[in-house]
Amino acid sequence: MSTTYVALFLFFLLSGYSALPLEGDGEDVDIAPDDLDNSIDGDGDGTIDISHLGANAYGTPTNESGHSVANWTESSLMNPEEMGEYAEGDILIPKPRGRNGISHETLRWPGGIIPYVIEGHFNQQQRDMIRMAIADYHRLTCLRFVPYKGQQDYITIQSRNTGCWSSVGRIGGRQEVNLQSPGCVTKKGTVLHELLHAIGFMHEQSRPERDDFVNIIYNNIRPGTENNFRKEDKKNTNDFGVSYDYNSVMHYSEYAFSRNSQKTIEPKVSGYKLGQREGLSRGDVRKVNNMYKCKKEGTDIEGDKKREPSTGWLGGIWQSLFGGNKDSE
Ligand SMILES: [Zn+2]
Repeated sequence: MSTTYVALFLFFLLSGYSALPLEGDGEDVDIAPDDLDNSIDGDGDGTIDISHLGANAYGTPTNESGHSVANWTESSLMNPEEMGEYAEGDILIPKPRGRNGISHETLRWPGGIIPYVIEGHFNQQQRDMIRMAIADYHRLTCLRFVPYKGQQDYITIQSRNTGCWSSVGRIGGRQEVNLQSPGCVTKKGTVLHELLHAIGFMHEQSRPERDDFVNIIYNNIRPGTENNFRKEDKKNTNDFGVSYDYNSVMHYSEYAFSRNSQKTIEPKVSGYKLGQREGLSRGDVRKVNNMYKCKKEGTDIEGDKKREPSTGWLGGIWQSLFGGNKDSE
């Protein structure tokens, strides 16, 4: 193909792309109609056990957590979602809920469909970051974030000064995912991380078998935050067929809740770095697809790459148009 044709093709590609809502100031990530055929088996009526969080998961958003995140920069040792006063740093089911008392269970999203609306104040770059995170779920999993149009259960993405936090799974009714600006919308992995909580996942290092894979260094943990390193009960958890994943976007960083800038958690195997927030790992993708009974196999998964810079906006466009790997094709 001559360069003229390539140039023409790119011109049509880009001019066509600019008509898509991703470029506009609308809030929705529009998806192609065939993307709605998300190939999920079953009704997604599963429950998710959150009993290991106990009463800690229920509370009120706090400005103290917001102050910490306001001081976060990309050169900080820990991730912003590890700075909150919430259960494990960023898990919060706001009180009061319609249900009585504390529930030990939460729910999956039926059919993997998650109605959402962005109501926080984000600049264009930050909105694009949120859209890119959602586009990753659409590209790699069967989950579908659809614009909120009065559905009973939905996510609202907020930007209050209360840190980065989310509930776990579908708690019923309107539920918030808070992404304080700019700290929680600086890295795509933080957005992916909070959405993964809302989708139904916990932190990787709270897996029951984690002591086989990481050392927790209790001497370095800030007093009063030791609870954040609790493990889930083995009999209540489901690993969805994915072994312990150092690359998970749900793994704490090495300095999470450190009192002295020394490591609080380190891999037992050398050569791994914990707490990446570049993208979903292969394990993250598989777990989502297994929880939601989706047969999709993701490719081009950023969380497993070696800190490569993203391929930029053109790469993003290319991937969103051509990079999808639908299992039906
Ligand atoms: Zn988290």
